[in-house]
Amino acid sequence: MINELAYALGDNGCCIREIAEFGAKRAAEIGKDKVFNFTIGNPSLPTPPEVADAVKAILEDTDNLAIHSYTPAVGDGACRQAIADDLNHRFGTHISADELYITCGASPALAATFHALAFPNAEIVTIAPFFMEYRPFVESAGAKLVVVPADIPDFQINFEAVEQALNPNTAAIIVNSPNNPSGTVYTRQTLEKLADLLRRKAEEYGHPIYIVADEPYRELAYGVEVPFVPTIYKDTVVCYSYSKSLTLPGERIGYIYVPKAATDSKALYTAVCGGSRAIGHICAPSLWQKVITRCAHLRPDLTEYDRNRTLLYEGLTQMGYTVAKPDGAFYLFVQAPGGDSVAFARKAMELDLFIVPGDDFGCPEYFRMCYCVSHETIEKSLPLFRKLIEA
Ligand code: PLP
Repeated sequence: MINELAYALGDNGCCIREIAEFGAKRAAEIGKDKVFNFTIGNPSLPTPPEVADAVKAILEDTDNLAIHSYTPAVGDGACRQAIADDLNHRFGTHISADELYITCGASPALAATFHALAFPNAEIVTIAPFFMEYRPFVESAGAKLVVVPADIPDFQINFEAVEQALNPNTAAIIVNSPNNPSGTVYTRQTLEKLADLLRRKAEEYGHPIYIVADEPYRELAYGVEVPFVPTIYKDTVVCYSYSKSLTLPGERIGYIYVPKAATDSKALYTAVCGGSRAIGHICAPSLWQKVITRCAHLRPDLTEYDRNRTLLYEGLTQMGYTVAKPDGAFYLFVQAPGGDSVAFARKAMELDLFIVPGDDFGCPEYFRMCYCVSHETIEKSLPLFRKLIEA
């Protein structure tokens, strides 16, 4: 006998990976230069050189056992202090190390947080389009994922729809800005309006409604402000990752921040520790905690992503595609001509052009493209997009 829920999750693999793998297979068959694979959000910027320098220095100046041992479950104290210092420097906050919990990236941070918030019959709200892994994380924590329809075409927030989704079982709402897959950044005004609504509803229900701020793309914004959500709404739990900002997706490092000012903060932090334990997340890699201790202040140089973003956004809009304004992350969310993104993705595949239909993001009429690819790939793909829209 096996667990059917686990089987279903394993069997229903991630559609992005499947398309990406098919694209990789085609590249092996016909040559990389003839395949245009925009499926997977693997950063294409090189990791900052300071990271390699830090690794080398740690290997030389740190005791071998100290490098490779378990750290405390909540994370190395020096690492948490370095992150707190960086956040305080940037946002004028007074965060202390004991409000932070180091994780293997944003995925376990989210899973642990949802476990922490999942009281009996709890509902967690997400706003479409949304990162498709929220569903398995939320459902395996025993909560229900409630999807609020997208605010098309701006991809900010449809407040009427959010209000309709809230009820006394609402434990939290996920805020992912800059957003995967739309690239949209919520404005300060949008976040303040959301905070007002949540405060009003929390008072009505007699318990807090937390924001889970999923922020792997916080550093990836092109000339717009990415407000730090806890400074707008105190009942916020931040889930952060260095996967995208420092190009470290394979190293698995990030953190959870539970502000002291949040309602029931101590209990919430303890429940986050318990949630992490429940998912078998013992402690993040020790070497990478030491690297972050030395590198938490680094920011990516976005020149290449910005070049790609401009070429793709302008290229596609000039052809007549409707594209969400991409202010952040490295994604473009494009309306499929004809309105059926699955059919459009199939047509694109015939040209060895690989994109991800929007169904699993909660927006079936849009498709997602990752522009963390070479500039040349984008240049060469544009005639194919023209062919598709003309067809
Ligand atoms: N949240 C969003 C919105 C993402 O796009 C991703 C990864 O692509 C994650 C969380 C998970 O990131 P990590 O690599 O840190 O697990």
